[in-house]
Amino acid sequence: MGLLSRFFKNEDSEDLGQAPPTKLPLRNDLCWCDSGLKYKKCHLEQDQIYLEKKRQKDLAAKKVCSPVFG
Ligand SMILES: [Zn+2]
Repeated sequence: MGLLSRFFKNEDSEDLGQAPPTKLPLRNDLCWCDSGLKYKKCHLEQDQIYLEKKRQKDLAAKKVCSPVFG
């Protein structure tokens, strides 16, 4: 958690939950959190929610930051 969470400190990652690793396991592989569970039975759903939230956030941020064309 130490190193990774430092990278995500800038964004208010609290409402997004725990950030998944960049390289996600396959559905039937063991989860990245070392729980011993298959990914689909563990963090798969949470990660998808996280990524979707993050995507929405990035989109919103882009809208604010991007210059107006035309
Ligand atoms: Zn997990």
